[in-house]
Amino acid sequence: MLIDLRSDTVTRPDAAMRAAMAAAEVGDDVMGEDPTVNRLEAEAAGLFQREAALFLPSGTMGNQVCLGTLVQPGEEILAEASAHILLNEVGSVARLWGAQIQPVPGHLGCPDPQAIGALVREPDIHHPRTAVLSLENTHNYAGGTVLPLAQVDALVALARRHGLHVHMDGARLFNAQVASGIPVARWVRDVDLVSVCLSKGLGAPIGSLVLGDAQRVTSCRRLRKALGGGMRQAGVIAAAALLALRDGPGRLADDHRRARRLAEGLAEMKGVRVDLASVQTNIVFAEPVMPARQAQDRLAALGVLCYALSPQRLRFVFHRDAGDEALAGALGACKKLFA
Ligand SMILES: *Cc1c(COP(=O)(O)O)cnc(C)c1O
Repeated sequence: MLIDLRSDTVTRPDAAMRAAMAAAEVGDDVMGEDPTVNRLEAEAAGLFQREAALFLPSGTMGNQVCLGTLVQPGEEILAEASAHILLNEVGSVARLWGAQIQPVPGHLGCPDPQAIGALVREPDIHHPRTAVLSLENTHNYAGGTVLPLAQVDALVALARRHGLHVHMDGARLFNAQVASGIPVARWVRDVDLVSVCLSKGLGAPIGSLVLGDAQRVTSCRRLRKALGGGMRQAGVIAAAALLALRDGPGRLADDHRRARRLAEGLAEMKGVRVDLASVQTNIVFAEPVMPARQAQDRLAALGVLCYALSPQRLRFVFHRDAGDEALAGALGACKKLFA
């Protein structure tokens, strides 16, 4: 059987989720009448201790409605140089909102405060206006790293001093909660808007959430409709998302333990390099001596799927459908290739 470590998005809904989907009470969510969506949004708002929540079909749409709420055409968003909104959202900030992203150098996914100080634009007729600081937590391309809370607090304070709004791409924020012991509510206490994926490690087949103050979430709801994300009897998918929200976080520690074991195994093999400091949650980046694409193909031939996300780097991601057998299989295949 194939071991699929390409992404934590590959999980399939389990029997309990499918049963909940089949039994879901539904209504027209664009009219605010889907009881299951309403329950999901209310529960999420309570869990994150924010006024309001919004259910959306994807994390990309979640980030984009947040940014569309916080930015005007001609303005600029500061984001760490390998942020998902910069590299993986099809240039949507430019396409949709007429804004641009200024990449900020960072360490393990955390933007450098001094660089931010230097990159915020002075008021000038020639300049775009810097409007938003966007933080990604955990940070995907840095290796699933958790931004240190003290640094998040300092960055939010810095942003406020410069009059910036703050967005958090919390696609994997529950991984940060599990790795740090700091609850999601504390992570998002001071940001304007946060988006969170339910369809990654938490295991829902579809869905993301945006959370924040009621007024801003109402704006996000309008933009969701504008993007074609107003769904009708969405309770069918919200039912699975509700189980993901309730039960998903409890098993992420297993993913983190497996990722760590894989990374430690790889670190002992001659043909591949791993930066163990970056392995903090469910993601492992490795740099094979051979080209990453070739390593990806050879691992696939041995039954292990991973992603060559650059010519140098392979990414392995642990998730609900990759347990201890998958870990053992991945270590075995890597040993054949890299030891
Ligand atoms: C997956 C992901 C998203 C959203 O992705 P979708 O595939 O649109 O749900 C956003 N940010 C980060 C960091 C991600 O890893």
